[in-house]
Amino acid sequence: MSTAINQIYDTILILDFGSQYSHLITRRVRELGVYCELQACTYKIDDLPYKPKGIILSGGPYSVYDDVSPHMDKKVWELGVPVLGICYGLQEIAWDLGGEVAPCESREYGHADIKIVAENKLFKGLGDDMKVWMSHGDQLKKIPEGFRVIAKTGTAPFAGIDNEEKNIYGIQFHPEVTHTPKGKELLRNFVIDICGAEANWTMSSFIDREITRIRNLVGPTAQVIGAVSGGVDSTVASKIMTLAIGDRYHAVLVDNGVMRLNECETVKEVLNEKLNINLTVTPTADLFLSKLKGVTDPEKKRKIIGNTFVEIFESEAKRIDEEQVKLGRGKIEYLLQGTLYPDVIESISFKGPSATIKTHHNVGGLKEDMKLKLIEPLRELFKDEVRHLGEIMNIDSDLVWRHPFPGPGIAIRILGEVTPEQVRIARQADYIYIEEIKKAGLYRKISQAFAALLPVKSVGVMGDSRTYEQVIVLRAVETTDFMTADWFEMPYDVIKKISSRIINEVKGVNRVVYDVSSKPPATIEWE
Ligand code: GLN
Repeated sequence: MSTAINQIYDTILILDFGSQYSHLITRRVRELGVYCELQACTYKIDDLPYKPKGIILSGGPYSVYDDVSPHMDKKVWELGVPVLGICYGLQEIAWDLGGEVAPCESREYGHADIKIVAENKLFKGLGDDMKVWMSHGDQLKKIPEGFRVIAKTGTAPFAGIDNEEKNIYGIQFHPEVTHTPKGKELLRNFVIDICGAEANWTMSSFIDREITRIRNLVGPTAQVIGAVSGGVDSTVASKIMTLAIGDRYHAVLVDNGVMRLNECETVKEVLNEKLNINLTVTPTADLFLSKLKGVTDPEKKRKIIGNTFVEIFESEAKRIDEEQVKLGRGKIEYLLQGTLYPDVIESISFKGPSATIKTHHNVGGLKEDMKLKLIEPLRELFKDEVRHLGEIMNIDSDLVWRHPFPGPGIAIRILGEVTPEQVRIARQADYIYIEEIKKAGLYRKISQAFAALLPVKSVGVMGDSRTYEQVIVLRAVETTDFMTADWFEMPYDVIKKISSRIINEVKGVNRVVYDVSSKPPATIEWE
């Protein structure tokens, strides 16, 4: 058995009470160089395979005194490690240890100024007052015995409390959001000084340990297969596998006919030639396009592409397995998946008393009949950590910073039927668009950009004659989490250049428009 990451690195445990900010606490602690993990607030402490260096209790939408509200396992107190409660977490500490919590006269939401009223370890070095972000409707009315007040505001007499002897701290505000400017320093005081966690969570130490872990897990003969798309996650995961087990890792690129212009060739060149990844490309574009014939419904397109992909990938896995066995090599026993930590958080975070908490498994939607064991080298990592890994492993920065690209590819950027001719138009337009925003130095400022082909025709005039051709819409958004997004304010001269190039160079298009809708209510993709 290989050792789990939480047994190798000093780990901070974050218990999630359902706050929208819980994943941000995780991000901040990681940014301090300390490994941390999130679990639902109802997690049983006896199930912990490691002893955390400290515990952070998140905020949450409930009121501790309500019957239906979630409470944590009391064994948290038996671990004897430092505890920091944030908002609901503070209220949970008070509720649990004999304090009192009640509704405030008015809900407090937004900026507040707190005063530090006693010298203490949590606010050490942060000054006598601090700007913070509040979001609560309940307040402490009485603090538990053994505790003292360390911070207050005009309206919250118990904005911060501690029990120094037992190393328990609670704050009413949110240090994890950027609206609390010194929040990260406060978290550093807790994680590094109070918990004594070692700041050794770096991506270069991660690579070495992950390689060892994978070697131990897979053993000396078994083999691994994985699908690659040319995106950063599957490429980084594949590179790690290759470093760990060499050509016993088999990457498969299924050409579904709806990747971007030249993408298949580029992926082949980068993965195979530059990164030395053992790659097989399956040239199945015609099969996909024939199945998509006559289909206009976006959901149907997605299903057809998804199912065909699984079919082809499975038969490819079988073929490679048989071939390897004939060569006297081990069987393919593992399937590589590029699952990231946000997917894991999504599946384990606290969803409320009535919602069942999903298990860790199957995050990536593995087909059950494949009978392969999962291997997920990135499941503890956030996207920016994966990008950082990519940079350390010398993966081209074009690939490391590539915008997200949907599984069904250009098929859902061609509204209406996906024909070879429509694919040609959408691909060429998209290529020109991306090329120009890269030239203008805007690619990294934009979170996602693409061209979509609309199934409408409009009248135009070219060389004195009437044209009746299609419309390309340009989409570019800025976002941090893809849950909400603003449309990008593209400079006019750049749009001008793109528009004139597309109309001149892409046969079949006589009009280009720019999408000025934010998400919500629009989505980022058009289908
Ligand atoms: N529901 C609690 C309150 O309103 C906690 C809020 C929070 O954790 N942000 O006070």
